[in-house]
Order: sequence, then structure tokens, then C-alpha cells
Amino acid sequence: MIRIGVDLGGTKIEAIALDAAGHELARRRIASPAHDYAQTIDALRTLVERLEGELGGGRARVGVGTPGAISSLTGCIKNANSTQLNGRPLAHDLARALGREVRVENDANCFALSEASDGAGAGRRLVFGVILGTGVGGGIVQDGRLWIGPNAIAGEWGHNEMPSRSEAALPDTQCYCGRRRCIETFLSGPALAADHRRSVASASASLDAAAIVALAHGGDVQARATMARFYERLAAALAGVINVLDPDVVVFGGGLSNIDRLCDEVRARLSAHVFSDAVTTEVVANRHGDSSGVRGAAWLWPP
Ligand SMILES: [Zn+2]
Repeated sequence: MIRIGVDLGGTKIEAIALDAAGHELARRRIASPAHDYAQTIDALRTLVERLEGELGGGRARVGVGTPGAISSLTGCIKNANSTQLNGRPLAHDLARALGREVRVENDANCFALSEASDGAGAGRRLVFGVILGTGVGGGIVQDGRLWIGPNAIAGEWGHNEMPSRSEAALPDTQCYCGRRRCIETFLSGPALAADHRRSVASASASLDAAAIVALAHGGDVQARATMARFYERLAAALAGVINVLDPDVVVFGGGLSNIDRLCDEVRARLSAHVFSDAVTTEVVANRHGDSSGVRGAAWLWPP
């Protein structure tokens, strides 16, 4: 059985074909049609049919990872930053275009599923996959299956409030979702850069997250202080998830998961926040990197 996973991003659409064992057979990438829903459906159909043609013309099972989530009320996409998708019955329209059932799932959930299936969380019963990128999201996989939840928001810890117990003066941030002090406004890449800006003179104002990480690595005192705050906040925020879910493993993805010391720094700080005599939760980086989204979309059809 061939499975095709499609990652529907804001700037590109990527598709991958996997065999039953999870080996990559083929891959294609195209630019996303800008802000046009009908063209997006058309591009997805063309991409899938081209991959099928390349692989001998058989019909594959198709899964799609998308920003946002599928509303259990309407069956339409909600919460997507690619706003042309919001309010659209994406799974239904793709099924009609391709003449078969198409599974559609949130992209952070696809990441978690990929890493739980044959990535850094393989073989563990409960996997919490964490995206630390331009946003902060997550997904929960139990015994190889995604947990979605009745609101389709399982794992969305990024819009919980940032714990403030260990900080007397937590900055009063504003989130795009309308709430204050969301975890995402402290732990995303742009949030890390904003936190550094708040703490240093304006000369360094334009540094992005990668530059701050590099400066800290080189011994810059202010950048090191920014990173220490980041690690501490990440550990405190993750403890809220661990106390409720107690996953076997936390797998980091997204751009900030490339920070060399991330897992060690978080592991060292967890015991101060988690309600347990010892914290044995594994904290690991992803195995499939940028490919996890597209691989997880294919894994929406387990062999
Ligand atoms: Zn928020």
C-alpha cells in the first residue's frame, strides 16, 4: 500500500509517498497558490496525481497536514493562519477532487504522529510532540494513534497562560488570539527575539532567535541570560503538560528544536516544576526534522 502525505504550508505544498514500512518512495514540492482556495484544491490534486503517475499509476491513500484544525461543529477548517482555508470543508472538497476519502489533520498533530510512528518517540506509549517555531503547538499520540479531542484542540498548550510562579515580573504580553501571557508569546521564535529586545539596549534590537542562540553560544552575557529565561519558562510551561498527561516522551520540533542544548537545558530544569520525586520523562529532539509534517500526514493512514 502506498501512502501519500501532503503538507499544506503557507508558502509551499510538499508531498511525499511512503511504502508500508515508512520508506520514502518519492517527493515533490510546489509553491502554494497565494490566498486562493480553489487553486489550492487544484494544486493538491495535481500533486497527488503526479506522484501516483511517477509510482506506476496506482491509487494511494492520501493524508493532508494543514494549519488550523477541523471544527467538529462544521467539518470546516478553523484557527488557520493561511486564512483562505478557514470556514472551508477541506477534507470534503479534496475527497471530491480526488475521488476517495482524504484524511486531514492539524500540522502539529502530523508532526507528533510522524515522530511517534517511526521517529524519536517510536515504541513509546504516550508521546507529546511539541512545535517551537513561529508559533507554539503540540500533538498527543497514544499507542500510535492521535488523540484529537471533542474540540479538536488536544495538545494546544501554546495558548495556556504562561506559569508565573518563578518570576516576580513576568512581562505582560499580548497574543494574537486575544489573550494575555499565552505560552506562545514567550516560547515561539519571534517571542524569544522580543524577550531579548526587552532586556537589552536598542543596538541589538533586530536580532532574531537564531542570532541570539549563536551569541549565547559565543558567551554573550545578555544573550545567555535571555536563553536561561527561555529554558526556565519552557520547563515551567511543559511541567503543566507533564503533570496532567505524564507522557513517556516529549519530542521537540520546529525551528527552535535545532538549539543544541535545548533538551539538556530543559531536562535539568524540569524537576523544579514537575510534581514528582524524580522526573523520568524523556525529552528529545525530533528524528525527521522538517519532513515530519509531511511524513505524519502519510501516517494518518497506518499500514
Ligand atoms: Zn494565545
